[in-house]
Amino acid sequence: MPGAPPRTNLLGMPRPELETFVGDFGAKPFRARQLLKWIYRRGEDDFARMTDLAKDFRAALAERAEVTVPEIVADRTAADRTRKWLLRMPGATGSEQVIETVFIPEAGRGTLCISSQIGCALDCSFCSTGQQGFNRNLTAAEIIGQVWLANRELGRDPDGEHIITNVVLMGMGEPLANYRNVLPAMQLMLDDFGYDLSRRRVTLSTSGLVPQIRRLAEECNVALAVSLHAPNDRLRDELVPINRRHPIAELLEACWHYLERQNGRSVTFEYTMLDGVNDRPEHARELAKLLRGHDAKVNLIPFNTFPGTKYRRSPAETIRRFRDLLVQGGVMATVRRTRGDDIDAACGQLRGQVVDRTQIRLGSRLVRLAVRA
Ligand code: SAH
Ligand code: SF4
Repeated sequence: MPGAPPRTNLLGMPRPELETFVGDFGAKPFRARQLLKWIYRRGEDDFARMTDLAKDFRAALAERAEVTVPEIVADRTAADRTRKWLLRMPGATGSEQVIETVFIPEAGRGTLCISSQIGCALDCSFCSTGQQGFNRNLTAAEIIGQVWLANRELGRDPDGEHIITNVVLMGMGEPLANYRNVLPAMQLMLDDFGYDLSRRRVTLSTSGLVPQIRRLAEECNVALAVSLHAPNDRLRDELVPINRRHPIAELLEACWHYLERQNGRSVTFEYTMLDGVNDRPEHARELAKLLRGHDAKVNLIPFNTFPGTKYRRSPAETIRRFRDLLVQGGVMATVRRTRGDDIDAACGQLRGQVVDRTQIRLGSRLVRLAVRA
C-alpha cells in the first residue's frame, strides 16, 4: 500500500506561498498570518495548540503539514555566557553533517550567529569553515530553524520578549552563494508576523559576491557586512580568492550602490587581523584611502586560530594602532571582542563536522581558470 504523502514543512515557507497553501484548504489569507505568528512569534510547532484556528483547519494541517526543526546534538555554554549549539543535518552525500549556531549575549542585546551552508566553497585561506570544503546549501527551513530553535532554548526575558534581538549571517557558509534559500529566511526574520526584526538588526555578511549584492539591493532590506581583509587586490586575491573574480573596486561600487538603493546607514567592512600579513601601518593607510568619504565602518577581528593554520593573530597593540590609523585617516573603526573562545565559538572557528564533503573549492578552481586564460 502506498504510504501517506509526505507532510510539507511550513517552516521557512515565504508568506505568499503559505497563503496559497492555506488557500488550498479553503482558508482565507489571514489564516496564513495567524499561522506565521504561531510558528515564529510564539514558537509553536503543534497545530493542535493553535487555539484560534478552527478545529477542522487544525486537523487538516496536522495531516498535510508539519513544523520540523533541526535536531540539537550538543549545547555548550562558554565562561562568558556565549552559547553554541551543534545541529545535525543530513549531508548531500548521504553522510551525517553538523552545523553550528552561536548566541552572543551582550548588554541590552542578544545576537544569534547562524549558518547558511554546510561548509563553504570559497576557500578563504584563514577560515576554518573554508578549509573544510563544501557539502551543500541549507534549506530556508534549516536557516530560519536555527532562530526558531535558539528562541525555544533561550526562553523569554521577564517582559515576555524574545532574548534574540539581532541575527547575523556570519556562521558557516557564504550566504549569498545560497541566495535562493537565504532570501526567504531573511524575509521571515523581517516579517511583521514572523520575527519582526528591524532591518538594522539582521546583518548579512559576504565575502563579496558582487552580482548577488546587486540583486539583494533590489529585493531585501538588511544591514550589509563585507569581508574585506585586505586594502589591495594583490593581498586580497591571496586571502579571499573570490577577489580574483570580483576585485575590490567592483566590490566597493556594489556596496555604495547597495547603500543608495536601500537608503542604508553604512556598510561594515570586516578585517581579520593576521600577524605580519595585512596588519602593517601602510595597510591601514591604504584602507583609509579606499573608504574615506563613504558611509563605511571597519570592524577589526582578531584572528581566531585553528589547528593546521599558518596564520597568527596580530598582537593587541598592533590592532589598536591599526584602528587609530584608520580613525586618523577619517574612517570609523572598532575592534571586535572575541567571544566564546573556550568552546571554539569565535568567528571563523565554526567547523561543525563537514565529513564526506565534496571537495569544491572555488579558490583552486579560479586558480585553474586563471592558468588556462
Ligand atoms: N561567508 C561569509 C560569512 C561567514 S564568515 C563571509 O565570509 O563574510 C564571518 C566572518 O568571520 C567573515 O568576516 C570571515 O572572514 C571571518 N573569519 C573567518 N575565519 C576567521 C578566523 N579564523 N578568525 C577571525 N575571523 C574569521
Ligand atoms: Fe566561506 Fe566566509 Fe569562510 Fe570565506 S570566510 S571560506 S566566504 S565562510
